[in-house]
Amino acid sequence: MKCSRCKQPAFVKIKRHNASFCESCFELFFSRQVEGAIKKHRMFLKEEAVLLGVSGGKDSMALWDYLRSAGYKVWAIHFDLGIGEHSVHSRRIVEDFARAHQLPLTVVATKDSLGYTIPELVQRTRHRSVCSLCGLVKRYLLNRFAFEKNFTVYATGHNLDDEAATLLGNVLHWQIDYLAHQHPTLPSPHPKMVRKVKPFYTLTEEEIRIYVRLKNLPFIEERCPLSRRAKSLDYKEALELLEDKSPGTKHAFLFEFLEKAQKFFTPKETVNLKECQICGMPTTQEVCSFCKIMQKVKAKEENSCTY
Ligand code: SF4
Ligand code: ZN
Repeated sequence: MKCSRCKQPAFVKIKRHNASFCESCFELFFSRQVEGAIKKHRMFLKEEAVLLGVSGGKDSMALWDYLRSAGYKVWAIHFDLGIGEHSVHSRRIVEDFARAHQLPLTVVATKDSLGYTIPELVQRTRHRSVCSLCGLVKRYLLNRFAFEKNFTVYATGHNLDDEAATLLGNVLHWQIDYLAHQHPTLPSPHPKMVRKVKPFYTLTEEEIRIYVRLKNLPFIEERCPLSRRAKSLDYKEALELLEDKSPGTKHAFLFEFLEKAQKFFTPKETVNLKECQICGMPTTQEVCSFCKIMQKVKAKEENSCTY
């Protein structure tokens, strides 16, 4: 097998592009995909400070490594959720990487900033879904951090498989609102909210795995122990089945949606965001969902105080 570009021996075949690459041409392919996505969707400029969410998983570690080596100004943020060994391990990976490459990193431990780990919050609120509570807390802390530190853009490591699986789920349930907002760049809807971007949306999970191996990057393999079998994994499997039979299906599904169909879901009216009466962060209600949760926790603690 020869590299489609330089004709040297290839080490990998990318079926959906009908191409094989040697190591250095794969790196070039990878970089062209990311740079193309950044430029096409005006995600950020080289001199702009980018806040990057790093969980310690392969996608965020790969994006961190790519952006730093390509000369972008990246500030990483990691949430220590207090989920037992999983959080300890993830935090260690992220902190070691930052130290080894002298990269700026902020670790936000929910135990320190809120007084509770995620399992403790779930227990106190009896929230029906761990992941939706955890997601709400992370989104809130992230927006608050970005606003307080003057970041305007937040990047995540979502890849083509993640995006295609989300799209399939949204189409199967005709989630019109979600379809309207599924885009590689989500503009900021309020001065206190950052623009959200996904520079890896054109790369598959497999391509990112190859990059991680090639660069010998550390990452956490195990999934979070609190994650149940997420529906998105079923959607990924279904798409993989189609991809096996005709390579390029996932790519076409996502890209053609973005190019041809998404405009039909653009909302006619924009949502009016006000500021939370308690914390001042943007919300559609009088009090934001995060503050409601914290109020609930406080009320429960006060009621359980018996003297
Ligand atoms: Fe949080 Fe759920 Fe992700 Fe675990 S799987 S980190 S609980 S959102
Ligand atoms: Zn609030």
